[in-house]
Amino acid sequence: MTDTQKGDIAMASVHLVNEDKLFVKDLDKYVEKCYIGNNDSVHVNSDGLNYHIVSVFGSQSTGKSTLLNRLFGTHFDVMDEEKRQQTTKGIWFSHANYIASTDHSIEDGKRSNNSNIYVLDVEGVDGRERADDKDFERKSALFALATSEVLIVNIFEHQVGLYQGANMELLKTVMEVNLSLFHEQSKKCLLLFVIRDFTGLTPISNLGQSLEADMNRIWKDLNKPEKCTDSKLEDFFDLKFFAISHKHYQPENFELNIKQLGDEFTNERLFNHNSYHKQIPVDAWALYSEKVWDQIENNKDLDLPTQQILVSKFKCNEILNNIYDDVFLSEFSSLETPTHNPVSSCEYFKKLREKCISNYDSQASRYKSTVYLDIRKDLTSKIDTKLKVFQSSILSNLSDSLISKLNSDFPTLKKSSKLSFKELLLSVNEDTIKSFKNQSINYLLVDESDANNKDGLIYIENYKLELEKLEKMLQDFTSTLKFKESHIIINKITKKFQIKFKDAIVEEFSNPSTESWDHVAIKFDELIEKLLTKPYLNNSHFDFNIDLSHNENETVHLKILRNFYHKFDSIVHDYINDDSATRILRNIFEDSFKFDSDGLPLVWKTFNQLDSQFNKSRDQALSLLPVLCNMKKSDGTYIKKPIFEIEGEEDDADSDYDDDDDFSDDESSNSNKELRFSKLLNSKQQAKVKLRFKKETDAIYLDAKRSMVANKTS
Ligand code: GDP
Ligand code: MG
Repeated sequence: MTDTQKGDIAMASVHLVNEDKLFVKDLDKYVEKCYIGNNDSVHVNSDGLNYHIVSVFGSQSTGKSTLLNRLFGTHFDVMDEEKRQQTTKGIWFSHANYIASTDHSIEDGKRSNNSNIYVLDVEGVDGRERADDKDFERKSALFALATSEVLIVNIFEHQVGLYQGANMELLKTVMEVNLSLFHEQSKKCLLLFVIRDFTGLTPISNLGQSLEADMNRIWKDLNKPEKCTDSKLEDFFDLKFFAISHKHYQPENFELNIKQLGDEFTNERLFNHNSYHKQIPVDAWALYSEKVWDQIENNKDLDLPTQQILVSKFKCNEILNNIYDDVFLSEFSSLETPTHNPVSSCEYFKKLREKCISNYDSQASRYKSTVYLDIRKDLTSKIDTKLKVFQSSILSNLSDSLISKLNSDFPTLKKSSKLSFKELLLSVNEDTIKSFKNQSINYLLVDESDANNKDGLIYIENYKLELEKLEKMLQDFTSTLKFKESHIIINKITKKFQIKFKDAIVEEFSNPSTESWDHVAIKFDELIEKLLTKPYLNNSHFDFNIDLSHNENETVHLKILRNFYHKFDSIVHDYINDDSATRILRNIFEDSFKFDSDGLPLVWKTFNQLDSQFNKSRDQALSLLPVLCNMKKSDGTYIKKPIFEIEGEEDDADSDYDDDDDFSDDESSNSNKELRFSKLLNSKQQAKVKLRFKKETDAIYLDAKRSMVANKTS
């Protein structure tokens, strides 16, 4: 603001409370514009207490406004000398344009108002007026006392010592209202008696004594509240006296006296080094004075400490909202969505947080400290709520990216690493947690030193929460991997079994015997021992070396065993059917019918011989048909497939069988299921095999007979 601008504003005074007792609007703007701060602003970098409020009191037309205008360069209305018209009633307010000074080095004797004196001109009444005026006078006295540090009491010299009339009434009013206001809390104010039209005949000290005596007398006669019965006048007021010569008769002295009075106002001693100050930061003064007036006007109890707390709350909240909306939110929303560079966002938010808090501190620390600190907490928690959401989203992005990296890297790692599956899992788990810790340290939004104290608490909370989530994700990831790995193992072992068992079956049934199923059962047990028990059974517990729990290992074991039986089942059933059974029987028959025990072709000499050989061979072959019909061992027991009860799975022991065979009568029975496993050919199939076998062997017999006949006849 330029000097001219400041001057322009100072030209005007404000009608603070008008004739209708209404308080002016937008006073805060006026107060702030006039204020001469260190940085030209009322808000920051100063305590906002560099100002004084001075009021004037006295009967009407005693030259109060004239005095203020000369003393402070204000422009309050002055009564026209010729028309003797009364000026506008109410309370007027102005920033002092200058302070009159005797200092010759100062241009025009106008010292600049660096200490920000604001002046209240209370347009009084002359004591003879209506009751309404009395009420107003009382209210304005109360208002002046609640807000001002210095009360100028304007009084003509010739009225001093007259313990009567308007002046005494006025003083009585001032003291009474002061009691109502300050009996709770003693905060003194200065009563500065300015004695007008001073002749010099009576020394000022005598006039002062006389006034003091009057004051004490009034004080004594006052009805005081109980708490204050013993209190003295000087507990509430400091008194000071100053004389000014007659404006018209001694104009030079008049001017000089005013300048001398101005000198008093530039001396901090007059303000008793701020001990009269109400300690309201200047930017809250408008609000404070409005609230005070509101209380007075509505005849409510005026409790100044409460008012001060209310004002502090209002102002601190206003500061909080401004900072949160205008500074924090506007900058936060532009970067809220996590970018590809969360570390720099965090740096930025950390600075933003610090900036907001320090902005708040510099503006709000001037208010009641309990209020200021409470609302500071509100601000931090509002900011932190937003930042917490942001932080948890970047932390969660971090966990997600670590897990997805692990997912894509693991297969390669598994191939290249020399570690066992179990060790590899452990190591990638540890590495992932370590990476999370190392990277998330950069996501702190408070100083590291603060991270462990209350300020940083939510961040620690966030971090812990996300770490727990990550650990859970790792657990899921690990169990999925283990599950996959267990299936690889299951399939590998099953495959080996399948190959070896199939070979064994083919070999066994190339030359079956009544002990065939004993051999098969032994082979089966051998394969279990070789492929499953020997490599994986350890201290009577299975362990497939992929970090499974006891139960999980047991499940894998059972699944492998079940697969073995499935393979057993499918290999045997594939291999032995009516076609192959016929072929096998025919081979047996042919071996016996056509070759001797040394494998040489048999030559039949007689038809009898042929017939008996044929019958013998056919019987021999047919005697082996039961071996191909059931998996029945030589001791008469069947090979059975156990029922596997595997957690979370339904047993599918009978899923391979068709319903159209003659075992479907009682499907629900387990023993039936077991029998269906051991059953190879049903009765229809057996009949078919027999029939075909008969046909084929008959044909062979006929051939043999024909060739014998041919040989004999040739
Ligand atoms: P206020 O009502 O107390 O504010 O008085 P004003 O400042 O309006 O002045 C009222 C009248 O008193 C005006 O005509 C002034 O010229 C006159 N006046 C101002 N100062 C003095 C003074 O020191 N002595 C006397 N006798 N009259 C004064
Ligand atoms: Mg006036």
